[in-house]
Amino acid sequence: MKVVERPEMKTTERLYIGEVLKGLFVTMGHVLKNLRNPQGMPVVFFPEQQKDLPPATRGRHRLMKREDESPRCTACMLCATACPAECIHIKSPDPNIEKLPEKFEIDMLRCVFCGFCVDACPLDAIRMDIPEIAIAGYTRESLVYKKEFLMDHDNKDIVADYNPPRPVIWTHGPHAKP
Ligand code: SF4
Ligand code: SF4
Repeated sequence: MKVVERPEMKTTERLYIGEVLKGLFVTMGHVLKNLRNPQGMPVVFFPEQQKDLPPATRGRHRLMKREDESPRCTACMLCATACPAECIHIKSPDPNIEKLPEKFEIDMLRCVFCGFCVDACPLDAIRMDIPEIAIAGYTRESLVYKKEFLMDHDNKDIVADYNPPRPVIWTHGPHAKP
């Protein structure tokens, strides 16, 4: 075992302020260099070429519909029970009649994209195949996805309630839109 002596810090180093300023100078140096030559920037904030995502990538949720456009979901609660983040909230109008979700919400701020909800569903009523992985919003409310949006994610009137308009970013790979 080799014992390494802790190096003695100089007074200027112990004050930290000098070291902090030194670090800031280095950072500012890089900022100025990149501003002078943006093409040479090592970090590209908005890459033009996007990476292909693996086939198993999970996207945004959607609720599947039956032929008559009603939700395939029967509000059995299996997905909500399986969800480790407890972010699925379902309400059935009347448990004594055929079950349908009166309310079906997913709080995307809590979702960890584990896919357990999809695996738990016996009716293939929920999928995670909408090609969006950059999910963002200006308000917390806009990130609680409601049944109408989950069932009709392309409806412009409904989508307008969710801001900002979510970019479709899968332009390559198995989930890419044509
Ligand atoms: S992906 Fe996971 S965390 Fe998100 S809603 Fe489904 S079960 Fe819950
Ligand atoms: S598991 Fe499927 S059918 Fe059951 S509540 Fe969830 S989405 Fe609906």
